[in-house]
Amino acid sequence: MFMGRVVALAGGVGAAKLLRGLVRVVSADDVVIVGNTGDDFEFHGLHVSPDLDIVMYTLAGVVDGVKGWGVAGDTFSCLGMLERLGFETWFKLGDSDLAVQMVRTDLLKSGVSLSEAVVELCRLLGVRARLVPMSDDSVRTVVLSGCVRLGFQEYFVKRGAKDEVTDVLFEGCDRAKPAPGIVEAINGAERVVVCPSNPVLSIEPILSIPGIRDALKNTGAYVVGVSPIVGGKAVKGPADRIMVSLGLEASAYGVAKFYEDFLDHLIIDGADADLRMRIEGLGVKVTVVDTMMKDIESSVCLAAKTMDAR
Ligand code: GDP
Repeated sequence: MFMGRVVALAGGVGAAKLLRGLVRVVSADDVVIVGNTGDDFEFHGLHVSPDLDIVMYTLAGVVDGVKGWGVAGDTFSCLGMLERLGFETWFKLGDSDLAVQMVRTDLLKSGVSLSEAVVELCRLLGVRARLVPMSDDSVRTVVLSGCVRLGFQEYFVKRGAKDEVTDVLFEGCDRAKPAPGIVEAINGAERVVVCPSNPVLSIEPILSIPGIRDALKNTGAYVVGVSPIVGGKAVKGPADRIMVSLGLEASAYGVAKFYEDFLDHLIIDGADADLRMRIEGLGVKVTVVDTMMKDIESSVCLAAKTMDAR
C-alpha cells in the first residue's frame, strides 16, 4: 500500500511540466501520480504507454526537453529499418524508447500487472514519485468524427489531431477497476492536483474508471486544478477545439465547469482574470497567476501555487 500527501491526476506533456516542479516543492516520496492509459496501444507487439512514459522520462530527467516526449538524444535506427522493410512508422519511438517498451512488455508477459511493471521501470530509471496507471485493466480512448471511428493514436499522431471530434469513448471503462491503491490514496491525501492536461482526452479517461470520480467527490483532500486553457486557447494541442465541438466552453470557466463536481480551487492564467467571478459562481475558488511553464523555475513556481491554494 502506498500513501502520499499529494495525489496528482496526469496526462502527458502539460502534466509532466507541472510535476517536474511539484517534486521539488514537496518530497517526491509524498507524491502519487495517477496517469492516463487510455492512449496506450500496441506497436509491433509492444505495449506502449505514451502518457505514463512522458511523466516517467520527465521525472527521471531523460525526456527530450524540446519535444516534451521521448528520450533526449534518442536515435531512430529501428524505425529506419522498419520503414525500409515497408512497415508503418508513424508513431515515432526512438531506440532507447523502444528498449523501455520492450522491458514493459516482457514484464507484462511474465505475468505482472501494468502498475507493477511501472513501479519496476520507475525504480530502474530512478523516479521516486509513485506513478500509477489509472487501471491495470485495458481501457482504450476512441475518438468519433462523425461516422469515422479512430483509435486515439490514429487520431492524435497519425492524422495530426485534425479531425473534428464529435464524441469520445473510453472502451472497457465500465468493467475496469482503479489500479490498486488509487482510491485509498485519494481518500488519504491532503491535496489532489488536477494537472493542466487535456480535460477530455487525458483527465476524463481517468475519471471514467468507476470509483475514481466518487473518491474525488468524497475525499477530505483539497482538490486544486490548473487550467490548460489560457486566453480561450490550449497552450498546445487540440483541447480548445475539442471542448468547442463537444459543446463545452473553451475557457478556464469551461475547465472549472467540467470538473465542478469535485474541484475546490482552480488556478487560472492572468490572461483569464476576468473569468474569476464566473468561476467563483460555480463554488470553485480561484487563484490568478502566470501559468505558462517556460522553464523549470516557472514549473516550480506554479507547483508551489497548487500547494498554497486554499
Ligand atoms: P498530452 O497528452 O501530451 O497532450 O498532454 P496533456 O494532456 O498533459 O497536456 C496537454 C495540455 O497541456 C494542453 O491542453 C495544453 O494547453 C496544456 N499545457 C501545456 N503546457 C502548458 C503550460 O505551460 N501551462 C498551462 N497552463 N497549460 C499547458
